Parts: sequence; C-alpha cells; structure tokens
Amino acid sequence: MLLNFPLTTLEQRLAEGDNWTRRQWAEARLAQRFSKRIPAEVNQSLSAAAAEAGRYIAEYNIWMHHLVDANGNRLFAPKLRLLSHWNLRDEIKADYSDAQNGLAKQRLIQQVMERIVTQTIPEIVVDNPNYDWNPVTNEVKPANVHDAEGSATAASPAAADLSKAEPNTRYAKLLLAFQATRKVDPYSPTAPTYIARSFNEGRELPEARVKAILEQVLSSPLVPQVGKLIEKRLGRPLEPFDIWYNGFRARGAYTEAQLDEIVARQYPTAQAYEKDIPNLLIKLGFSKERAQHLANNIVVDPARGSGHALGAGMRSAKAHLRTRVEKGGMNYKGFNIAVHEMGHNVEQTFSLNDIDFTLLQGVPNTAFTEALAFVFQGHDLELLGLSKPDANSLALKTLNDFWGTYEIAGVGLVDMSVWHWMYDHPNATPAELKEATVQISKEIWNKYYAPVFGKRDVVLLGIYSHMIDSFLYLPDYPLGHLIAFQIEEQMEKAGNIGAEFERMATVGSVTPDLWMKNATGAPVGPEALLAATKKALSQVR
Ligand SMILES: [Zn+2]
Repeated sequence: MLLNFPLTTLEQRLAEGDNWTRRQWAEARLAQRFSKRIPAEVNQSLSAAAAEAGRYIAEYNIWMHHLVDANGNRLFAPKLRLLSHWNLRDEIKADYSDAQNGLAKQRLIQQVMERIVTQTIPEIVVDNPNYDWNPVTNEVKPANVHDAEGSATAASPAAADLSKAEPNTRYAKLLLAFQATRKVDPYSPTAPTYIARSFNEGRELPEARVKAILEQVLSSPLVPQVGKLIEKRLGRPLEPFDIWYNGFRARGAYTEAQLDEIVARQYPTAQAYEKDIPNLLIKLGFSKERAQHLANNIVVDPARGSGHALGAGMRSAKAHLRTRVEKGGMNYKGFNIAVHEMGHNVEQTFSLNDIDFTLLQGVPNTAFTEALAFVFQGHDLELLGLSKPDANSLALKTLNDFWGTYEIAGVGLVDMSVWHWMYDHPNATPAELKEATVQISKEIWNKYYAPVFGKRDVVLLGIYSHMIDSFLYLPDYPLGHLIAFQIEEQMEKAGNIGAEFERMATVGSVTPDLWMKNATGAPVGPEALLAATKKALSQVR
C-alpha cells in the first residue's frame, strides 16, 4: 500500500489538502492506515498503564456524610458517595438550588478538590466511610456514624497515621502513563511525541492553533461581562467554584412529568418510535424521499444502559438506535436521548451510504458527530408537537454554554502544559510533577480567572480526572462547544436542517478546518460562540 500511496504529514494535508480531489483525499486516508508499526509489547505496556490509571480514577470516591465542618456538622446526606471529579463537580452544580446549605456545601467541596490536586488529602479518607474528615483543618477521626454497608470493619490505625497524606499517587499514575506513551515515540516518525500524535493525528488541528483558539475564548471581553451577570443573579461576589455555575437555566413551559406523559402516550414501545422516524425526519426538514431512505436504514432497539447509536459497517447493514423504554412506555429523557442518537444514525447512514469514497466515511472527530447529534436533540420539543423554547431560554442556554467553554478551556490549557512539562522533565518524580501541576494550574488561573473572580492562586483547574486517565483528551471539550456553535449557526442561516445536514454529513473525514470550510465557509474557531454570546447578553435580563 505504502509503495503505491505515499504517507502525508499534517502540514501537507493542511497546506495542500484544500486543492486535493476527493480521490486524493481517499488515497491519503488509505495510506494513513499503514502509517505506524508499533511492537505489541509497546502497545501492551500502554494499555496496562491506561488500565491502571483508569482503575485509580474509578475508585476515587469521597463519602460525603463523613465530611464535617468546624462544629462537627454533617452537610451531606448519609450514603452519598461521590466520584472525583465528575460527581463532586455535579454536586456543586446541584447545590445552587439548595438555598439553605448550598453555599457551605460548595465551599467544602472546593476544599476537597484542592486537597486532591495538592495531594494534601489524608490517604485514609479516600473511598472510606470509616473516618470523618474536616477538609478545612484536615483533621481525621474514626467515624461515629455508620451509613455504609460493611463499614466500621476496618481496624483503626494509630492516630498519627490518620492524617498521613496521599503519597502523590495521582501524579505517580500520570507519570506511568507518560512513560508508557513515550515508548511509542521511536515508532512514530511523523509525530514523534504523544503531544504531536494527539494534535496532528488525533485532532488534525496543530497544537499552536488549538492553544490560540482557547486563549481567544479565555481572554474575551465577554468573560467579565458574563461574570458580572452571574454575580447579579447570585447576589454575591463570585467564588472560585462558580466556574461551574449552572444557573442559566430557563423554567420550561412543561414539567418533566407532563413531558413524560406526552412521550409515553406517543411512544409506548421502541417499535412505535421506529415507525415514526420518517415523520420525525420530515418535521426536521428532510424531504419525504430522504426521510424514507434514512428510516429504511435505522432500526430501534430498547437499551439496557442509557442510549447509544451503532453505525453500520457495510451498506447492506443497518444502523441501530438504542434508547431506554420503561414498562409504561418511553419517558421524556429516553425520547430526548433517542432524538440525539437518531442524529448520530442519520450522520452514520449518510456518511456510509451516500458518500463518494467509503475511505472518507465519517467526520473529522467526535466533536463533529456530537455537534450534529445536538442539532437534532435541540429540536426535541418541536418533534413532540410542542412549542419550541423562546428567545430568552435560548439566550440562557447560550450563556450556559459560553461559561462552560470558558471553564473547560482553562482546564484544557492546564492539560496541555502538564504534558509539555513531562516531556521537558522525563525523569521527574511524582512529587516534582505535583509541584509543576499545582504551579501550572495557578498560573493559568491567575492569568484568565483571577481578574474575574478576584482571587489568586486557585488550583481547581487541575482537578479533572481525564488529566490522569485520558491523556490529553481535555482540549476536545472546548473545541466541541465551538464546533457545535458553528454548525448550529450555519443551520440557522440555511433555514433547513434536512438538506444542510446531508450536505455536511457527506463531506467525510477530511481535516477539521477543511470540513468546516466546506460546511460553513470558515475554519474551526470561536467566532460563532462569541457572536452568539454577545447577542445573548443583550437579550437576557
Ligand atoms: Zn452522542
């Protein structure tokens, strides 16, 4: 294959790819399938390191009822066990609606997160309901409340051992992963570091561009304006955990229970949904003929988990849409997910069955496939025959997305800087990596967040678990938000989802910038999000 079709670099694909024919693109993708020959033992040590990091993260729970304040009060309910960082962060979000204890809870969780990042958390309180812990003073005592099954069985160590800090395990796991990824470097001549592979091969966006895009969001003059608006809505100055503020939510016209009832009546079974697919697609703007073509290629199965879209691997097979159907019929959550998964299935069907070169099947990366699915999901109420969200709710949603992008853009920059530091210090100890991560988290906070939050040296940006077990995945989140806004803006401009969706879904897996230029006329960038945010700020009161 390589004798007939030369390998290309990202620089070439970016510089020359705009003028390639579709066939040249297909040939480039074909050659790329043979771009590396990595020895099995290198791959094995990589998956072993990833599994070990994954295990460490998967078991990192905090037993919330055992967090005590200075007066020995317990703010959280018994049995509440939260996984770092996802559940801890989501608890901060949920606490905005707890008028009585919300703020105290949020401050306590921030303290817990900071102790995880700085590894000053007592080792014994990790995933252990047998001890009470005051995260402020760091005092640990054997628990006098037993809320977890099988708790109180462990022997109590001597008092001096109770406060022993976690021995930088978090950073030891990350170093292990780093050492394993480095072993691939000699077998990857066109992208000789993991950082290069992540950006040039995985995302196909040069690192310098991603960095510039994230910095453009972080330093936008809209950030302090949205920050001021949040302060006004909260009635207090911002605190660092407000990077997870989730109060930009409109009260919907229907309650969840009302929606459940409407959905269950329309879709008592998975088959009922499958039968309705052509009708749903026509409502989204597809022609009768295209709607039927798509429906012929999608089957609906009830799901055991949440939801899932499994594309077909050959044109004679069908894509599977999986969503939950309860005994009494589908509920609103199941429907909302089904509409999202249907977006994936439609993209999968077009890009397999209606593309010119099957080697170009797909989209540049997962951010694009998710953005296309969100276009469908955002119209779920109209598909039920209900009125669509009003201008104010849409503006609130935009501000919510903007604030989320601002938050995660800084997290992405921390992830990127930490990987550079590891490559610059390949023999670092876990303690040195910890010091560096804390330093980097503070620097990025001080540059982009301290001016808005009025507080310096916060380390919260280093809490994401992906940083330990997903290897430079975090920059994908902010990029995903930006891409979603670009696609959404184009759909609105075109005024017709059906034809526009098909046009985009058949561009295929070219580089993200070329895809976006084909789809919207501009390369990947934050302009659509920033424009929508500016407009939203003028609409929301
Ligand atoms: Zn999805």
